[in-house]
Amino acid sequence: MQYCENCRTLCESTCETHKTKYLRTPQSNDPVFLAQLSGFSAAMLEGVLLDEKIPFLKEGRLGAGMSVWIGSMMEQYSFYVPFGIYDQAKDLFALVSGDQMQADDGIDIEDV
Ligand SMILES: [Zn+2]
Repeated sequence: MQYCENCRTLCESTCETHKTKYLRTPQSNDPVFLAQLSGFSAAMLEGVLLDEKIPFLKEGRLGAGMSVWIGSMMEQYSFYVPFGIYDQAKDLFALVSGDQMQADDGIDIEDV
């Protein structure tokens, strides 16, 4: 298992974007990309992570000003968790996302 420092994701051997340029062995406190979610899904995942006391990083793509402009429910959030508890977080995410989750990074606008 390798870790790309630049995109903060785990990969098998090479990063799709950066090849081996930023790859190294993941450390337990490295932030690892968990999911990108919007609106209600993001709020649900955040709630579960907080409940389980899993530290995480949530980054919006648009920035605060833009969220206000188009409404925070449209904002897409990227969630990162420390590598050491990534498996645990991934299980929680699977639980939360269930069947409604579309794993692809296509635009996913939900009825809330
Ligand atoms: Zn990368």
